[in-house]
Amino acid sequence: MTATLKTLILGSGPAGYTAAIYAARANLAPVLLTGRQPGGQLTITSEVENYPGFPKGIMGPEMMEMFREQAGRFGTEIHDDVGIKVDISKRPFTVTSEGGKVFTTQTLIVSTGASALYLGLPNEKTLQGRGVSACATCDGFFFKNKVVYVVGGGDSACEEANFLTKYASKVKLVVRRDALRASKIMQKRALDNPKIEVLWNQNVTDVLDVNKGKVTGVELTHTKTGEKRQEPADGLFLAIGHQPNTQLFQGVLKMDEKGYILTTPGKTETNVPGVFAAGDCQDSYYRQAVTAAGSGCMAAIEVERWLESQHD
Ligand code: NDP
Repeated sequence: MTATLKTLILGSGPAGYTAAIYAARANLAPVLLTGRQPGGQLTITSEVENYPGFPKGIMGPEMMEMFREQAGRFGTEIHDDVGIKVDISKRPFTVTSEGGKVFTTQTLIVSTGASALYLGLPNEKTLQGRGVSACATCDGFFFKNKVVYVVGGGDSACEEANFLTKYASKVKLVVRRDALRASKIMQKRALDNPKIEVLWNQNVTDVLDVNKGKVTGVELTHTKTGEKRQEPADGLFLAIGHQPNTQLFQGVLKMDEKGYILTTPGKTETNVPGVFAAGDCQDSYYRQAVTAAGSGCMAAIEVERWLESQHD
C-alpha cells in the first residue's frame, strides 16, 4: 500500500497523458497506470495527420511516446501496469493493479479509452496490420488501387467506405441486413459513390490468407440462404462499432446503455464525487485524439479545484 495520492490516472491515451501533464504541473504528483496497451489506440494506427501542431503528420506510436515523455518531464510517475480492481465506494479510493500494487488516492481520473469491436473470426487478430484494420483513416493509404471490404452499416462504415475510395479501386460494403443504420446523408454518399458496391444480407465469416501472412480474400455467407462463397480481397476494414473500456466500473459509475461513462454536461465529473472521466471512455461521438486530450486537461483542472474545495 502506497501513501495516499492526490490523483491517480488510469489509461495512457491522449486523455490520460494530457491529464497527467496538467496534474503534474499543478503539483498534484499524479501516478498513471498505462493499461494493457501503453499509448492507447493511436499506437495501432499509422500516421496522424489531424493533430494540430504536426503539419507534416506524425506516426501514432511516436506521438504517444512524446505524450509520455512530456507527462514524465513534469514528474508524473508512470507505471506500465493495469488497474484490475477498484473500490470507489469510500474515500480514499483504492485501485489494485495486475502487478500486485495497491494504490490509495483522493481522486481518480478514468481515461481507459475504447476498443474497436471485431467480428471474432479466428484469423482476424493475427492479420491485424496485414490487411485487417479497424481504422480506415489510419490505414487506407496502404490500399492504393486495391480491393477492400468494409463490414458494417452505420455512420462509421459509410464514412470509412467513402474515405477508402480515395485509395482503393473498389470498396465492397458488407451489410448484415437489407438496410443501413447510418444517417440518411451518410447513406446517400455511400450509395451514390460509384466505387462502392453494397453487399446486402451478408456476413464476412472468414478472412483468408492462404498461408501468405496477409489478407488475400474473404469468405462471405448470405444471411438468408446460408450460401457461402470466397472472394479475393486485399483488405478488410471493420466498422461495427466501439466498446468503451469501462468494465471495471460497471454498476458503480453511471453509464449509458453502451457502457460509456456519463459525466455532467460540459464537465468530466461522474456521479461519484472525486471520480472524473475523460477521453473515449466517456465519448461515443467525437472519439478524436484532440478531443480526448482536451477532456484530459479538463479532468485535471477539475481534480485540482475539487481537491481545493475539499480542503476548504
Ligand atoms: P453503430 O453502432 O451505429 O453501427 C454499427 C453497425 O455495424 C451497424 O450497421 C450494425 O448492424 C453493424 N454490426 C454490428 N455488429 C456486427 C457484426 N457482428 N457483423 C456485421 N455487422 C455488425 O456504430 P458506428 O461506429 O457506425 O457509429 C457509432 C456512433 O458514432 C453513432 O452514433 C454514429 O452516428 C456516430 N458516428 C457519426 C459519424 C458522423 O456523423 N460523421 C461518423 C461515424 C460515427 P445493424 O444495423 O444490423 O445493427
